[in-house]
Amino acid sequence: MEVLTRESEIAAFKECAFVPTMGALHEGHLSLIRMAKKTNRPVVVSIFVNPEQFSPEEDLDTYPRNLEQDCAFAASVGADAVFAPSVETMYPTAPQPIALPDAATMPQLEDACRPAHFMGVCVAVARLFDLVQPAVTVFGLKDYQQYLVVKQLIVQEENRWKNLKILGAEIIRDEDGLAMSSRNVYLTTEQRKQSLGLHKAISCTTQNDMVETLNTYGLDIEYAVLRSSRSLLTPIDGEPVRALVAARLGNIRLIDNAEVQP
Ligand code: AMP
Repeated sequence: MEVLTRESEIAAFKECAFVPTMGALHEGHLSLIRMAKKTNRPVVVSIFVNPEQFSPEEDLDTYPRNLEQDCAFAASVGADAVFAPSVETMYPTAPQPIALPDAATMPQLEDACRPAHFMGVCVAVARLFDLVQPAVTVFGLKDYQQYLVVKQLIVQEENRWKNLKILGAEIIRDEDGLAMSSRNVYLTTEQRKQSLGLHKAISCTTQNDMVETLNTYGLDIEYAVLRSSRSLLTPIDGEPVRALVAARLGNIRLIDNAEVQP
């Protein structure tokens, strides 16, 4: 497996299957790489902790980083290359704002808690797609709103990344139900128990029950809602419905979601 850092090196992987990540790889990321492998295209995994998507009070400086181990993990499931660009390669000039897809600005969801977040995500994803020029990209449904934002971004910029397809990968969980996340390593033993409230909450079929469940586990709620899986708005009859939650345990922010049958 190759480890690349330069724009000139990544050009050889045009039309690959591409898995963007911020590193600290776990089984969730590996499932995305396995899904990318199934396309029978060369698989490129990017590792870039994107400063643009962290607000000043968030955990950019302490975000877990371990490139050597990440490369070993990526190689173990058959990635052909890891692309780990520097901030200078990603942003040779100050990143310019991009038109945000509708899914990025939904009442009460990620945007309300992290106002600049999706602009940062879209700027980085757009730059990565420009550099890598993949044929397929794989995103996890763990970040459900992000998945929809990127899906809409690809449609919006259809002349920029021609025929790019996005695949959504199911959420990978620990045995007890906690969705895997790079940030889980920061949970204390007590917080690890409390974190199970998220998984419990997303199996509820009313918003009141979701809130009550998160409160019972002592989680600090950012949102707990039932929305249309397609539009992220209030579901209309017959539409598939998703339960989406975000909550804090001290400084650690956790999110989760699942399709529900209300
Ligand atoms: P991150 O490194 O957290 O930016 O995540 C990179 C990609 O992995 C995103 O598409 C995430 O949605 C996906 N991902 C992270 N955790 C999981 C998980 N537990 N299950 C499935 N996909 C995940």
